[in-house]
Amino acid sequence: MLSLISTEAFARAPLTVVLVIDQFRADWLTRRADIFVPKGDIKNPGGFAYLASKGAFYPYASHDLLSNMTGPGHANISTGALPYRHGIVLNTWFDRATEKEQYCVGDSASSLIGFEGEIKKGGMSPRNLEVTTIGDELKLASPESRVASIAIKDRAAILMGGHLSDATYWFEDGSCQWVTSRFYVPKGNTPAWMNAARPAQSLCNKEALASPLAITETFRFAKNVIAEMKLGQRGKEDLLFLSVSSHDYRGHKVGSNAPEMDEMVRAEDVEISQFLKFLAKKIPGGLKGVNLVLTADHGGPAAIDNGKSERFRMGGLDEKKAVEDVRAALEREFGKSRAKLLVGGDSFQFFFKSYDAEVFAAVRKYLSELDWVERVLVRIDGNLTQDIPADLGRYARQSLGSRSGDIIAVPKAYRFGQWGPKTIDHVTANSYDRLVPLLFVGPAFQAKTFFLTARVQDLAPTLAATLGILPPSASEGRILSEALH
Ligand SMILES: [Zn+2]
Repeated sequence: MLSLISTEAFARAPLTVVLVIDQFRADWLTRRADIFVPKGDIKNPGGFAYLASKGAFYPYASHDLLSNMTGPGHANISTGALPYRHGIVLNTWFDRATEKEQYCVGDSASSLIGFEGEIKKGGMSPRNLEVTTIGDELKLASPESRVASIAIKDRAAILMGGHLSDATYWFEDGSCQWVTSRFYVPKGNTPAWMNAARPAQSLCNKEALASPLAITETFRFAKNVIAEMKLGQRGKEDLLFLSVSSHDYRGHKVGSNAPEMDEMVRAEDVEISQFLKFLAKKIPGGLKGVNLVLTADHGGPAAIDNGKSERFRMGGLDEKKAVEDVRAALEREFGKSRAKLLVGGDSFQFFFKSYDAEVFAAVRKYLSELDWVERVLVRIDGNLTQDIPADLGRYARQSLGSRSGDIIAVPKAYRFGQWGPKTIDHVTANSYDRLVPLLFVGPAFQAKTFFLTARVQDLAPTLAATLGILPPSASEGRILSEALH
């Protein structure tokens, strides 16, 4: 049948790249085009301006989640599914059986492996990801294809690469090196070139991870992986995921609209331009052999100093204190032992050991009366007890799974979370946290801007169509057919 389909979408590219910039909100590409390097051309490409002018561009794609953050966002990108099925409901949730925190990619059975072997017990894996990714489907359809995934953040690399990737690497700051885990390399060995691909020593402090240096080091490592794994250079279709975590580290310190973000975006722009030039030389056919997608895992709010705006109440909320306040309210009303039903809380989701009608009613009343709370969602046995209208209801239904909290406070607009006095968090379903660019560039795609509705879960099935493979197992996305040639 394939011969009947004469579209260029099926002239398959040897390399597909999914490039994610963590916290790269929808308006970066549209609002700050003035700071980008010139767009250039296919032989001598610029960065963002090149991609935006040559691609099928959805400036306002949505993650459609109740709680937008790195883990769920990267899982949406790779699976085309939503948290109620892919299982990555938050970065961290509470396990009701053990009453312990569970990090989304934490896995005690998968030690971290660096270039000299095991470096840390109690490691990471994609075991909590319940569905297949686009990379998994490519490996199932075409075992000789190679899938690689890279990010400074472990959860970004792991949730993009999925279960069957050939190489999933992230940065481990304790030992200052790129690592993987025993999940991917059961024998505990990494390729010899990993030793030479160690990051610059100057990356080895937390400040550096929020700087342009970390952006440069991420792209440098990605080029190493492409060269060493010969991605896109073997007559097969290969897939590379790359997520730039540093943008988010800086954003959490200064807020998404701060002038200090320009330095990061300029560095990303230059690095993308150099990366495209590298691909143009390395891949047979140059950039005509590369389909590339640019998107983000979530956005982030503008930071407003607490309490300074009297016209519209904005400002941070201490996420840890919100949990302690609920606990204190329960202790006052029911005593210490019944208050222990509250196991913990994260991102304004509160987890309870079991259902107790009086306790749940009291917490709902307590939260409803707080000035920053728009509404309170209550779940009994995992089922929402209220009928939440319109889009917010859809975000809630498709975001919440068995690992989600039982009672959830939805913050009002621009009442953002904080984990310390000078941090800004993105945990809401509001536009600033939910909207990201979605931009497809390459031989399969048109050069046109679309203001049609596009969702990030459309990315994986659209790429599946260009590769002629099945979409991931729980994908609910639409093939963005208007974007294809
Ligand atoms: Zn973040």
